[in-house]
Amino acid sequence: MALGGFRIEVTVKAPSLRQAHRLVMATNFLDPSYWLGAAEGPHAAHLLTANLVTREGFLANANWVYQQAAQANIFQGRAADAPSKAQIQALIDILDGLGWNGGIRSPTKSLDPNAWWHCTPSTDRSAIFQELSKTYQSDEEIRDLYEQARGSSHPYTLPCKAQPGNPDHRNQVHHRAPFRVRCSQRQCQHKLQRTALVHWIAELIQGGVIDGTAFGL
Ligand SMILES: [Zn+2]
Repeated sequence: MALGGFRIEVTVKAPSLRQAHRLVMATNFLDPSYWLGAAEGPHAAHLLTANLVTREGFLANANWVYQQAAQANIFQGRAADAPSKAQIQALIDILDGLGWNGGIRSPTKSLDPNAWWHCTPSTDRSAIFQELSKTYQSDEEIRDLYEQARGSSHPYTLPCKAQPGNPDHRNQVHHRAPFRVRCSQRQCQHKLQRTALVHWIAELIQGGVIDGTAFGL
């Protein structure tokens, strides 16, 4: 019988391997036809149905899932970052496509309209960061990014990362080379270096505080 991704595990207690083997073989559990409609009796509730796929189709599907993650830059980010929900789900789905599932989390249903592969890359913060980092690298470029980000946020300031909801906390230019900004609140003075600033702007774009279309996102 041509089946892919079919795995049955049977656990028995027996004093020897030979006896364990004999006990298992007597159950018919390792015979796929037992589960595929031929089953009657105590396990009828666990009846399986089979979808036959070719080896090529199986690998093409797994490859397609991987390509969606690669194109959306889902796995890009800083090594120190905890993996995002999207990253964990994409990994589960890729491994699931290859027939492996640890049984801890559910793979995404292939027809789910909210599946992560329908999301545009700009909805993922690390993808936004990657895009911004391609364009804004030098001190002047990052200052330009900061000025543009201020211009498209409401009100016309860049929120402090330590107190983002507090309008009294506002970033202002602190150093030009290397470029960095600092919160204007005397008790706060939260600073952002260049890379941290780009990460913060990416987060504000993702959160809708800053309009990403101003940056072609
Ligand atoms: Zn502050």
